[in-house]
Amino acid sequence: MLVDSDHLLATPLYDPERCSIGFHPLHSFIAIPIYLALCFLPKFRYLRIIGVGLIIHMLLDSVDCQITNGIWYYI
Ligand SMILES: [Zn+2]
Repeated sequence: MLVDSDHLLATPLYDPERCSIGFHPLHSFIAIPIYLALCFLPKFRYLRIIGVGLIIHMLLDSVDCQITNGIWYYI
């Protein structure tokens, strides 16, 4: 849930019409591949768990965008 702290940088703080994926820095298309890479780090079990959690978060946010706004990511 800490990953949603990047919403504090946005104005307005919360906008139900806005899709997080591709808009907020920690939900960007630069950050997501890093989370994906964390999932495959050998020897760093805790980082892998965090990576899987972040990917699940991004997938759920994207599904939420699809359900509420009909888009998978911010355009
Ligand atoms: Zn989020």
